Amino acid sequence: MKNVLNKLKESINKDLILKFDTDLLEQMKFVPINIKDNFIYIAINPFANKEDITSLVKNGYADIRFIQLSEDEIEDLLEYVNTIHPSKDEEKSVTTDIIDEENNIKIVPSPPKAAEDFEQPKKKIGEILIEEGLITEEQLIQALAEGRRMDTPLGSTLHKLGFITLKQLRETLQQQQGYETVNADQLKIQDKVVNILPEDFIKANKVIPISTDGRNLVVGMVKPNDKKVLKDIVYLTGQSPRAMLITHFEFQNFINLVYSHSKKETKEIIQQIEDEVLEIDGEETLWEQVERELQDSTGSVAKFVNKIITDAIENKVSDIHIEPRLENYVVRYRKDGLLKQVIDIPSRVEQSVLTRFKVLSRMNIAEHRRPQDGTFSIKYKGSSYDFRINTLPVSGKEKVVIRILAPAVSLNAADRSIKLIGATEEDIEKITKMITCPNGIILTSGPTGSGKTTTLYSVLKTLNNEEVNITTIEDPVEIKLEGINQSQVNVKAGITFASCMRSILRQDPDIILVGEIRDYETLEVAISAALTGHLVLSTVHTNSASATVTRLIEMGAKDYLVSSTLSGVIAQRLVRRLCDDCKEEYYPSYEEAKKILLDENEIQKFMKTKIYRKKGCSNCDFKGYQGRLGVYEIMQISKEIKKLIAVGAHDIEIEEAAVACGMKTLNQACLGHILKGFTTIDEFVRVLGIASE
Ligand SMILES: [Zn+2]
Repeated sequence: MKNVLNKLKESINKDLILKFDTDLLEQMKFVPINIKDNFIYIAINPFANKEDITSLVKNGYADIRFIQLSEDEIEDLLEYVNTIHPSKDEEKSVTTDIIDEENNIKIVPSPPKAAEDFEQPKKKIGEILIEEGLITEEQLIQALAEGRRMDTPLGSTLHKLGFITLKQLRETLQQQQGYETVNADQLKIQDKVVNILPEDFIKANKVIPISTDGRNLVVGMVKPNDKKVLKDIVYLTGQSPRAMLITHFEFQNFINLVYSHSKKETKEIIQQIEDEVLEIDGEETLWEQVERELQDSTGSVAKFVNKIITDAIENKVSDIHIEPRLENYVVRYRKDGLLKQVIDIPSRVEQSVLTRFKVLSRMNIAEHRRPQDGTFSIKYKGSSYDFRINTLPVSGKEKVVIRILAPAVSLNAADRSIKLIGATEEDIEKITKMITCPNGIILTSGPTGSGKTTTLYSVLKTLNNEEVNITTIEDPVEIKLEGINQSQVNVKAGITFASCMRSILRQDPDIILVGEIRDYETLEVAISAALTGHLVLSTVHTNSASATVTRLIEMGAKDYLVSSTLSGVIAQRLVRRLCDDCKEEYYPSYEEAKKILLDENEIQKFMKTKIYRKKGCSNCDFKGYQGRLGVYEIMQISKEIKKLIAVGAHDIEIEEAAVACGMKTLNQACLGHILKGFTTIDEFVRVLGIASE
């Protein structure tokens, strides 16, 4: 039992104790120990009145956990509390000291004098960090100067300068101030919770509403023991606040995110729509709504929809998802392959917004139960953008996905070299060699969204000149190119890849781009086109270059025909590119190295190589990544590989032969990007999976 008691003494949160009068504790026979996971832990003796203690303590804390001790043990604890509890006078000075802790920039960088140390129960954050060997004195001095210049507290300045990680900052502040810190997940806050407190108040007092059950409001505060602010929150919201600690750094990011100019505009438009809806008397039928919409295309719903679209263009997103949640609709943008929620659509206007999109793309506005497809274009800042939109009924509501197709690209640019982000000079050389042959089939392969089409367009660009006739068949036309004939598949009207290609072949083309080879019919026409002297470019949905070869044979093509027509395969993926402004150097661990390498010697060598990992800064939206780059596996069809294909070899054999001829596999190419500091082990694993035999 002695051990338990000592443990309890060690876990006593001194700031918590400060909130209680020692006489009161003595009288009611209880000792508050600590706050953890929303619970306040309180040690009591067997005769303590739990109800009284509850009503006294439970003021903002979620719940109480009682720790039952014997009478003697409680006495022992109370005695201990008396030794650590400062007198009333001291209490005041301690409190103000804590308040200014993160802001206090008058820290003496030299080692603290023993006497001072003794008088001050709280250590300055700079001291703690130096003691723990996390920063040097030089770094502290630099951060103090920088912090003064930028008016930023020391801890957050140290983080911004890259001297400590956010985790280290949080842990140090938690240790110093005794408050739980807000984690990143808790900062994904719904708009309606943020709106509990007015913007001015949030900004002026550096406080963020995090969650609420209607009675208790959890708030993140840069100065969590600012009693005045806590009182103001009670007054403003009628809820009892529970303070958690948030670093200045995170607070600033949050503010930038929530109150950005663009977001403010969107909010104003939403407000306007809501006001307008309120003005309309009674229930409006769908048709009345649509009529109103059509009459007033400059109305606020139209403005809101335009905002959703133009924000997406500005942010270079690839898709817009408008999807139902339990209570309302949300808008999410896909950027660099990942989705991010950007706007909540108030439930009162969701129908108008969906209808507006349907009107724009000439869909049937009364149809809610069947999926629909459509397209629309808008002009924005001098460029014309095309959108492909489709709706899908999900659990009684409709989900809308809009793909943004890039604006028209001029193919007649003077620069004719192939430009592929992430491709090495060697890669480009191989591709250039591949396309010098005027007939044959060149394929790019990979999953959806791996940049296959972009690669083919880049190749087309180099091939385009006045002497050749280039025709494309696409589904849909994703990038508009000047100077070439682009046609679109329309299955409903009977225009398939195969039928379209047959008619194109009668028009004497030199180069044909077919969006995708997904059936034997298309493949057959592609092969006969290649055999009659055309260059055919297309994509296949396979995982590697060698698997592409065997896939063609599985589709039904004769192996000798594949062998004689295929000129090359480019398998590819896209990985996120590390942000150059914040990426962090480190040596990979054995576990990490094992994820991407198999050979024990290579693993050992790799562990001694400096590589980079993500960190996050304001330039990359704190994601650690900026943009993407391609990983390429380029297989030139050499004589030897032709022979292997013709005898129906397994794709493993074909790959081995290609590697022997100098092909870099996707794994090797991605490893190359890691070694050059372009991407991370995490991205390797996310995109290619863990390396295996
Ligand atoms: Zn960055």
